Amino acid sequence: MVSPPEDDFLSSPDSDWYRLETDQVLDRLGVDPAQGLDPSEVETRRRVHGSNEIQGAVGRGPGKILRQQILEPMVILLLVAAGISFAVHETTDAVAILVIVALNSLLGFIQDFRAEKAMAKLKELAMPEVTVRREGRVLTLPARELVPGDIIGLEAGNRISADCRLIETRSLHTLEAALTGESQQVAKDTLAISEKSPPLGDRHNLVFMGTDVVSGRGEAVVTGTGMKTELGNIAGMIQAAGEKRTPLQRRLARLGIRLAIAALGIVAVVFAMGIFRGQDMNLMIMTALSMAVAAVPEGLPAVATISLALGARRMLRRNALIRRLPAVETLGSVTVICSDKTGTLTANRMEVISLWSPDGSSELGEKLSAGCAPILRVGALCNDAELGIESDATETHGDPTELALVAAAAESGLDQRDLISRLPRVGEAPFDSHRKRMTTIHACDEGCASLPGFPTPSDLESPGERRLSVALMKGAAEAVLSCCDSVAIGGRIEPLTESRLRSVREADDHLASRGQRVLGFAFRWLKADSPEAGPEPDPAALEQGFIFLGLVGMQDPPRPESRDAVARCRSAGIRPIMITGDHPRTAHVIAREIGISGEENPVGGRTLETMSDEQLAETVSDTSVYARVSPEHKLRIVNALQEGGDVVAMTGDGVNDAPALKKADIGVAMGITGTDVSKEAAETVLLDDDFATIVDSVEEGRTIYDNICKFLKYTLTSNTGEIVVMLAAPFLGMPLPLIPLQILWINLVTDGFPGLALAVEPAERNVMQRPPRDPNEPILTRSLIRHLLVIGTLMGAVSLGVGYVCWSGNPTTEYDPSWGTMIFTVLTLSQMGHALAIRSTRDSLFAIGILSNPALLAAIGLTLLLQLAVIYLPWLQSVFQTVPLSLGELGICLLLSTAVFWAVEGEKWFTRRRELPGIE
Ligand code: ADP
Ligand code: MG
Repeated sequence: MVSPPEDDFLSSPDSDWYRLETDQVLDRLGVDPAQGLDPSEVETRRRVHGSNEIQGAVGRGPGKILRQQILEPMVILLLVAAGISFAVHETTDAVAILVIVALNSLLGFIQDFRAEKAMAKLKELAMPEVTVRREGRVLTLPARELVPGDIIGLEAGNRISADCRLIETRSLHTLEAALTGESQQVAKDTLAISEKSPPLGDRHNLVFMGTDVVSGRGEAVVTGTGMKTELGNIAGMIQAAGEKRTPLQRRLARLGIRLAIAALGIVAVVFAMGIFRGQDMNLMIMTALSMAVAAVPEGLPAVATISLALGARRMLRRNALIRRLPAVETLGSVTVICSDKTGTLTANRMEVISLWSPDGSSELGEKLSAGCAPILRVGALCNDAELGIESDATETHGDPTELALVAAAAESGLDQRDLISRLPRVGEAPFDSHRKRMTTIHACDEGCASLPGFPTPSDLESPGERRLSVALMKGAAEAVLSCCDSVAIGGRIEPLTESRLRSVREADDHLASRGQRVLGFAFRWLKADSPEAGPEPDPAALEQGFIFLGLVGMQDPPRPESRDAVARCRSAGIRPIMITGDHPRTAHVIAREIGISGEENPVGGRTLETMSDEQLAETVSDTSVYARVSPEHKLRIVNALQEGGDVVAMTGDGVNDAPALKKADIGVAMGITGTDVSKEAAETVLLDDDFATIVDSVEEGRTIYDNICKFLKYTLTSNTGEIVVMLAAPFLGMPLPLIPLQILWINLVTDGFPGLALAVEPAERNVMQRPPRDPNEPILTRSLIRHLLVIGTLMGAVSLGVGYVCWSGNPTTEYDPSWGTMIFTVLTLSQMGHALAIRSTRDSLFAIGILSNPALLAAIGLTLLLQLAVIYLPWLQSVFQTVPLSLGELGICLLLSTAVFWAVEGEKWFTRRRELPGIE
């Protein structure tokens, strides 16, 4: 029976959980560790303690977004303009400006809000999950759901998601650098501490939210959640670190400032010329203000944010979770993708297909030869995976390599549970990818009889009198062999001679060259009271004097999509590289099958270790496969590649992969098999662990960058067009050709909708057939500058030209709607043609399909309607100083405005002609 908890058990933040014995802790939290809390109790506690979240880590609310919109310098500038209009009794103008500002802010708000929602969703998905026991069942829940009193499981690689008191530990070590700054791992246990208020780092029976389990495992009871944790206490620091602009946003902001300065210079010129020619002062001030608003591209960083955030959402749909926004743009310039083999390039559906022992080999399914049954026993016992047998038979959990071994044993009639109950595990040296092996220790009270087929040495032959343990080992074949000095043959223990060693290695090579993942198996008898047989043995002392049993070969076919993804990388100028802990031959066979390498041999981890940095630099420039690599090697490989100027994406799943993931330009963690620690270190998480997903996200990254460039091209060209109109008119003897409201209208309304629609333009056909973008390439490339000067001038010339012809028939000294409306209309319509033409940088609109960006068509349709309204609705005519155009005039405007469209199509035609043949 669970008693209700003392209701103020969390009242003081600095509780003394560390001073209590585990049963006192459990008692005070009112929980039975074997059962966990029940749902109604969880509900009650959640009401008291809230959900397990650090406040403020969530994004901006609508209020904050709105405030930011209103406080933009441009909006303030416009409000000043409205104020001036009001002061000089131009009430209609003032109202019109306010309406335009409102429209524009609304548009901005909607976009920003969508972006924010997309980011919030990403953050939520990036939240770790926990294993928790409730009502006697083990569940996996989002960390947010934890309440004090929950019993949670901890294992290597977990990010701890609440403050807890440990109730059981097995070689548990954590890293608390995030909290205490201590970079050494801390050993944890369950013993009560008598000292009063020891520093956090010395509370070895507690674990803290936000810290990581680096090795071992344990069970703990949650003592504090959400803001009532040590991390919660310092949450302010985390929020401050959260908001950072991406490099692209920063570059756009800088570009914006440079353009603003240039634009203000031009505005000053227009203003001076107007005054010089005796134009009305008020009109000139308003014109200058409108032009400043028009020409200053202050929306650039915002557009980048929106495109990046919405791009991240699109990537999510393709199973790539973006954890840091800058990754979206960096993805577009990746030149090398370093990928794990197992599970990323291959399906990770391991299946044991062959067994080898010195007494003979067997294929699984046929009757096992004598030496093979003990191998499967070790496989089932030296194993952390479980086949789901209990209530829901489908639920299996564990590493696919290990699951395959349990399944193989089951197929041969060996039940894992039955074995475990007869040979309970009493100690272990867990697997790590550096040793590439693991050892478990089992008590065998029935003596050697519990392990039929395992030969016994003479001095242990009367087992009944002594308590015995057995150590079982599995791992990479050489890693196991290096711990063996004898081998089991024909039911006896024989020395591991050179020739026997050679035959094992040959068998290993033989299986590996068929593309199989090979594991070696060995065992060793121990006296139960020897120091090596303890629960947390020293691996160095334990892992020696083993008796080799044999090998298992597993099949793990490449994912069907890997081959194609590798080919896409190649055509996109990206070098795919395989980095694996597996056998060089296995790596070689799989790499060749999916097209990563040809005949060259993989470079091994050992070889890497002997290389100097210079030699390594040379090696990485043309090596595609690395085998028997440890996580530390990955870091060196990333470094060497980056030194050579590569932009590197690197995958990883283990705790030890974190440094390499952090160092890589894009760290890619595995969503299914990855540890929390690797996910925290990574920029993106592959929800499906699939290599092809990385390639997909590169494609998205490139497209997003393209689209930001298209937006820039669109607005900057329009701005150039308007400036040309305003600057050139006086030289033709004309008065100011556009009134301030028209300028605002063009910039804030007709620029806005199509510009945003360009941000959702689908990927260009050749997006993965061109080399990666140089990350140092300026945003305004030479060809972009040429485009906006030439096309902008054309746009201005056509619009002003039409107006000039009309004006010269009846020259006025002030703005007059009779010719002004024509300029205004041609300018707006030209922009629409421009938007359509720049949808692709090289293909003609007709090739990519007029209908393939419906958002843009809708935006153009809406803008046209608005423009017609401004010309034909009488009350808008007076505001915008327009006259209704006759059908003929409107036709002329439409026809002339297509000039820009055809010019851009011509430009693209030349681009296509210049390109090398074969890309079509
Ligand atoms: P990868 O995932 O790239 O194959 P790992 O570092 O995970 O590399 O594994 C390296 C080697 O360690 C594997 O080739 C295998 O021989 C061995 N190994 C992998 N998992 C286990 C395990 N659970 N127990 C024992 N040995 C293992
Ligand atoms: Mg692995």
